[in-house]
Amino acid sequence: MAPSSSLTDRLADVRARIHAAAQAAGRDPASVTLVAVSKFHPASSVQEAIAAGQTVFGENRVQEAAAKFPPLRADNPALRLHLIGGLQTNKAKEAVRIADMIESLDRPALADALARAAESEGRMPNLLIEVNTGDEPQKFGVPKEEADLFIRTCRQRFGASLQGLMCIPPAEQDPVPHFRLLRSMAQTHGLPVLSMGMSADYPAAIAEGATLVRVGTAIFGPRPPTA
Ligand SMILES: *Cc1c(COP(=O)(O)O)cnc(C)c1O
Repeated sequence: MAPSSSLTDRLADVRARIHAAAQAAGRDPASVTLVAVSKFHPASSVQEAIAAGQTVFGENRVQEAAAKFPPLRADNPALRLHLIGGLQTNKAKEAVRIADMIESLDRPALADALARAAESEGRMPNLLIEVNTGDEPQKFGVPKEEADLFIRTCRQRFGASLQGLMCIPPAEQDPVPHFRLLRSMAQTHGLPVLSMGMSADYPAAIAEGATLVRVGTAIFGPRPPTA
């Protein structure tokens, strides 16, 4: 897509590539959900995407999402918000209040905070466990070797609210082995949802079984530099 293309064109292009990647993998295209990652982009861009039929959005900061989404949701009840960024325990309550899915559950202290928040808010978003498949020290995600135990514990605690796994492969590596590892972990635990693949690699992720792809730049364009 040329940089001058419109958001609507870019969204249509991403949808077409998702469809093609699913078909090439012998999968039903409806088994892949596009999460449009709107972080750092204004509510007006989200509105443009909504007008083009997009309903599922991803944000990685609770405060930004809390400012942007509740007003949009008032006009668009079908809107779904996924929180995809590293989550501090002191933001758990707000996260539980606004999110339909939290994709970044990665440690026992956060599981505790989310359970308490669900109790006090009277609602529980769906949850994914983020796995640090590259074992990168500075990254979010439960370390690979702790993942099995953490998944089992969360499964007992959260039941059907725990739906699957998410990963962000190391930027400089071939993502495919990471996608395969995540899929095999999800299979082991009988978890149906696999969130993997971003602008650079979502077709490859779909070939490896992704059911959620998180695509930002390819839809909204480059993010404005952070302050
Ligand atoms: C920003 C972000 C994305 C989207 O990345 P793009 O490369 O812009 O598609 C996906 N997942 C997470 C967790 C993110 O923070």
